[in-house]
Amino acid sequence: MSARRDELAANLATVRGRIAAACTDAGRDPAEVRLVVVTKFFPAADVRLLAELGVTDVGENRHQEAEAKAAECADLGLTWHFIGGLQSNKAAAVAAYAGVVESVDRRKLVAPLARGAGERPVDVLLQVSLDPPGRAGRAGVDPAELPALAVAVAEAEPLRLRGLMAVAPLGEDPRPAFERLAAIRADFVAEHPDATWLSAGMSGDLEHAVRAGATHVRIGSAVLGSRPRLK
Ligand SMILES: *Cc1c(COP(=O)(O)O)cnc(C)c1O
Repeated sequence: MSARRDELAANLATVRGRIAAACTDAGRDPAEVRLVVVTKFFPAADVRLLAELGVTDVGENRHQEAEAKAAECADLGLTWHFIGGLQSNKAAAVAAYAGVVESVDRRKLVAPLARGAGERPVDVLLQVSLDPPGRAGRAGVDPAELPALAVAVAEAEPLRLRGLMAVAPLGEDPRPAFERLAAIRADFVAEHPDATWLSAGMSGDLEHAVRAGATHVRIGSAVLGSRPRLK
């Protein structure tokens, strides 16, 4: 167990160093960038070690796994970020444990999320698609539909519209995609001045995301190691 703790501590130090260096390069304050450690596929025991090592925010992409881990780690005071594809029939349940739901990409999710949140304020990010229109398996709202979705979330108490989330298109240079994202975000923040969060950047591209203005990076494998491959 202590070997795993040492491994996680070393990986966290490396990732925090990368974030700090990227901020220096971009002329930004590292305090503006929050590290969300993506713990999908890894056990609650790792989440516990991460909390001991100062991690405050963890991300999960599958409801069942997230719900179980959040319950097992309820004593740790962590903020759980839901970052995966969200089914409308699971949305209410997700809003019961997630502090941040990052993957809201359609209006149909808004009412169940608000209902599941109950009295709890739940932070919401709208996931924007950076893929070309029409691509199969595309996750995220089309940028053209973002304004209407933003209004729907902004009006849905107790949800709090906080900003945007995006994933760089697979197998492409993330830089042009993150540049498009920065432009989309500038228009969005002009309409919603309090919704300044931008969740972008993963293990392989966090530097580009920080340059494009990310306030949250979602880091899995660079902290926890490689995940078992999905078959
Ligand atoms: C898994 C996942 C991550 C973390 O990816 P790594 O490359 O392991 O850092 C980030 N964002 C989303 C949406 C994910 O599903």
